[in-house]
Amino acid sequence: MKISVIGTGYLGATHAACMAELGFDVLGVDIDAAKVSALGEGVLPFHEPGLPELLRKHVATGRLRFTTSFEEAGAWADVHFVGVGTPQRAGEHAADLTYVDAAIRSLAENITKDSLIVGKSTVPVGTTRRLRDIIDKYRDPSVSVGLAWNPEFLREGFAVRDTLSPDRLVFGVDNEADETVLRSVYAQAIADGTPVIVTDFETAELVKVAANAFLATKISFINAFSEITETIGGDIRTLADAIGHDARIGRRFLNAGVGFGGGCLPKDIRALQARASELGLDRTMRFLSEVDSINLRRRDRVVHLAESMLGQLLGKKIAVLGVAFKPDSDDVRDSPALDVAVRLFNSGADVAVYDPEGTANAAKRFPRLDYKGTLEDAAQDADLVLLLTEWNEFRALRPEQLAALTSGQRIIDGRNVLCGDEWEAAGWEFAALGQRFVPAGELADALMR
Ligand code: NAD
Repeated sequence: MKISVIGTGYLGATHAACMAELGFDVLGVDIDAAKVSALGEGVLPFHEPGLPELLRKHVATGRLRFTTSFEEAGAWADVHFVGVGTPQRAGEHAADLTYVDAAIRSLAENITKDSLIVGKSTVPVGTTRRLRDIIDKYRDPSVSVGLAWNPEFLREGFAVRDTLSPDRLVFGVDNEADETVLRSVYAQAIADGTPVIVTDFETAELVKVAANAFLATKISFINAFSEITETIGGDIRTLADAIGHDARIGRRFLNAGVGFGGGCLPKDIRALQARASELGLDRTMRFLSEVDSINLRRRDRVVHLAESMLGQLLGKKIAVLGVAFKPDSDDVRDSPALDVAVRLFNSGADVAVYDPEGTANAAKRFPRLDYKGTLEDAAQDADLVLLLTEWNEFRALRPEQLAALTSGQRIIDGRNVLCGDEWEAAGWEFAALGQRFVPAGELADALMR
């Protein structure tokens, strides 16, 4: 079986390399000629642990190739996976489906042999049936072109593992023959015990957005409690541990902090609200707007804490550790860390930024921040240090490491990964999200009274 993967971004490049690893001949197709050329030379244009090795290995054997030609893909592959982007539409909450529509149309116009198109992008419910009509409008009537939806659940940072050993496979199909093709593509994972859920198109589309809506809600749930503990006192980490012991709740995704971001959760919860409204269900997903607001307020809280610690931001030197939306990724799409860094900069602070992998992407979006190559360079002479992405390098930070570099001993832990007692014992003014913070000046005033 020959496989094409349309759209070779985070999802598609990973899927293509992993399909080659499973033994298939694979052709990656993208409209971005520069990306195609880099991938074709075995160069991965983004950071993903383990993926460069797979890419190089299979490009070298010729089992994995890349092209911009739909004509070539349509004549060659038996199965076409579609993983193009579905970003938020400018100025709206809804998903922009122009890339999906264009990719499906290009495929339909160029397929010259019986084949199956398998959608992997995250799309609003109802999209697959609409795409079926596009395919039927543009395909050669003498060839049979099937359509299935197989949402992708990979996590950046674990993308290779998640693709080779997914925790579940969801097949949205309308006939058994297409299910059989998908079962043979994923035969290895299925033999290894991955559960397969075979369902209709609508359910398959909804599984993905429901999962992301649930995860976003879980993060904002604990962050809402942060607003309470920040006001009245209490320990947000202990609260999360204690409720997390309940197996019905679970501890994962209950980490209080600066909130979620990235290329999926924010846009997916917005697109879900927009789709529900289109269906006349305005109130059904309205709670997600609160989930979104709680999440965005966490960024305000960090800026507010910085102001409380520094008095004013104008002219102050602030070291921001982390700009990727999460560790082990260089993805800065809708990154809370980058957003906070830019807000501090816009308030007049002199912001030095360090991230092990994310600075190049961040610099493309916000070239005016001062990007540094090491943690030490960023922290040099800083009045305040902010930890905003929980890379292991930052989790391991100790007060003595920074003390000789910074000009002020102030730190905000935006991810709740440091031990506040240790920093305070070393003489630092320490603040963390979810913990009540009393600026040193106010504390002294209160003690005097
Ligand atoms: P991305 O922006 O990294 O990649 C999208 C790619 O599609 C780009 O390389 C772009 O050039 C290409 N493209 C656009 N139009 C095209 C066309 N007509 N023909 C061929 N290629 C085209 O996006 P991504 O993060 O890989 O996400 C892709 C989809 O997968 C989205 O729907 C996203 O929600 C979903 N998803 C992403 C992840 C993730 O972790 N990144 C996980 C699960 C699902």
